[in-house]
Amino acid sequence: MRKPLPDDAVKTDYYASRPRAEISRRPRDDRLSHPDAEIEATLSYEAACDEAKRCMSCGLCFDCQLCFMYCNGSGFTRIEQPRPGNYFAFALDACEGCGKCIEMCPCGYLETRDSGTGSMGKTDAET
Ligand code: SF4
Ligand code: SF4
Repeated sequence: MRKPLPDDAVKTDYYASRPRAEISRRPRDDRLSHPDAEIEATLSYEAACDEAKRCMSCGLCFDCQLCFMYCNGSGFTRIEQPRPGNYFAFALDACEGCGKCIEMCPCGYLETRDSGTGSMGKTDAET
């Protein structure tokens, strides 16, 4: 099981600020006169999609491609059949150890091998 991310692992400056969706609540008098009715409304489809866009993908690769773009040593190559959380193959023998990919990864997915998890530590095969 993956250990919790350190507090500073997610680089919040990378993400656009998006306000949380407001969920309407029925007024008190209305609740008292209709006690069996739902108090809080549900999100619309559009609002739910907007909420999903607020996800920072903490600790899971979301294909921002920053590691791929900043790597000088061809450490990352795109895999042929990506799936959620898994987009790049990592080649340890091509890595020059500059640490730029870890520095740039916004969601805290990449870590040094010594810290135990992430592409640099979890496997030499895929992010
Ligand atoms: S640490 Fe290795 S994989 Fe990461 S950017 Fe540097 S050369 Fe590429
Ligand atoms: S490992 Fe990090 S920097 Fe690389 S694509 Fe995934 S989220 Fe972006």
